[in-house]
Amino acid sequence: MTRSRVSAVLGVLVAGVIGVGVLAQDPARGQGAGQGRGGVQPDANGECPPGTTMVRPGNCQAPQAQYPVPSILDYRPRTTLVTAETRTPKAKFPAIDYHGHIAGRLSTPEAIAALIKDMDSLGLGLMISADGGSALRSIDTIKSSPYKDRFRVMTGVNFANVGPGWAEKAVAQLEADVKAGAVGIGEISKSLGLRTRKADGSRLAVDDAEMDPVWAAAGRLTIPVFIHTAEPQEFFEPIDYKNERWLELSLFGDRRYPAGQFPRFEELNAERDRMYKKHPKTTFVMAHFGWHANDLARLGKMLDAMPNVYTEMGAVLYDLGRQPRAAREFLIKYQDRVLFGKDAYETSEYPYYWRVLETTDEYFDYYRDYHAFWKLYGLGLPDAVLKKIYYQNAVKITPGLPQTGWPK
Ligand SMILES: [Zn+2]
Repeated sequence: MTRSRVSAVLGVLVAGVIGVGVLAQDPARGQGAGQGRGGVQPDANGECPPGTTMVRPGNCQAPQAQYPVPSILDYRPRTTLVTAETRTPKAKFPAIDYHGHIAGRLSTPEAIAALIKDMDSLGLGLMISADGGSALRSIDTIKSSPYKDRFRVMTGVNFANVGPGWAEKAVAQLEADVKAGAVGIGEISKSLGLRTRKADGSRLAVDDAEMDPVWAAAGRLTIPVFIHTAEPQEFFEPIDYKNERWLELSLFGDRRYPAGQFPRFEELNAERDRMYKKHPKTTFVMAHFGWHANDLARLGKMLDAMPNVYTEMGAVLYDLGRQPRAAREFLIKYQDRVLFGKDAYETSEYPYYWRVLETTDEYFDYYRDYHAFWKLYGLGLPDAVLKKIYYQNAVKITPGLPQTGWPK
């Protein structure tokens, strides 16, 4: 319950008990109480009606008419907080971006050289193309480049027409791709579970047994499976004014997963967890903190129960940075299980990650308002933990990465 809701409920209770209308003029409250005009009572749930806000317990008011109310888009107050700002253009230790979508930047030596220039200025030691295998066609260009140890490529699995005979072909393709240089499977997209259909037309569940031979093969080939399941939980909820992703959902129609048309958030999580548990000898890297960065205790329990599961922090920085103490504690406790990854390749955004992970700066903006209208705080992680998250864990679980040349 929010603080204003608590006071609202108290206000209603008090009003009820003493039998006095809370909106009655009370000279002791003075001008600040809103002059007793325009005030209305909260509803039975203690909520103020639309267009009003609680100014005193039990009293909701609308802004005065000469101040038109800005929309969520237009209200951008400048902060008056004077506080330290640490510039973090470059990661403190060479970072491996485990969640790169860079296939289009690897196709020529010139493109690779341009990407290296960005990576050097950001402190990225290595990028993995988690583009489902589309960078495999550039593997010779990468291998003959002076930067061959700065990139690795994952392959994909084609989930079209899963049914009898599918797995044999998928496993054979996987073996060929690993021979060609793939160091893992990924990114397996959220479509698996949300949209992909089997040959018989039914939804392909994340734990469908017909895919078991592929996950088992990944274990046998000692390649990690980098997989994205579901989406943030609010994407499955009604798009009302209680939804903390309202702005994003109002902007992007393809991020809405209404009940009746799509499986539910928890249904997908349950399928995912069953699949991970079925294959304890296969290493899974769960993208985006499994969309549990908003519930780190839950994520911790998962990691405790499934030693074959690792997780990656792409696109959930807004949840870590709004709970800096809990996130710091979590990342220290699970320092052997978390990997750095960014997802969308946008050079201006990486420094936000370095700032949240490395500094103790306070109350600063995230890079996208529609993701997070709140502010972020630095976690100030110890160097030993940063090294694990930035590169040591990735190197440890991915035999195809360069195993030497990293700082001690
Ligand atoms: Zn991705």
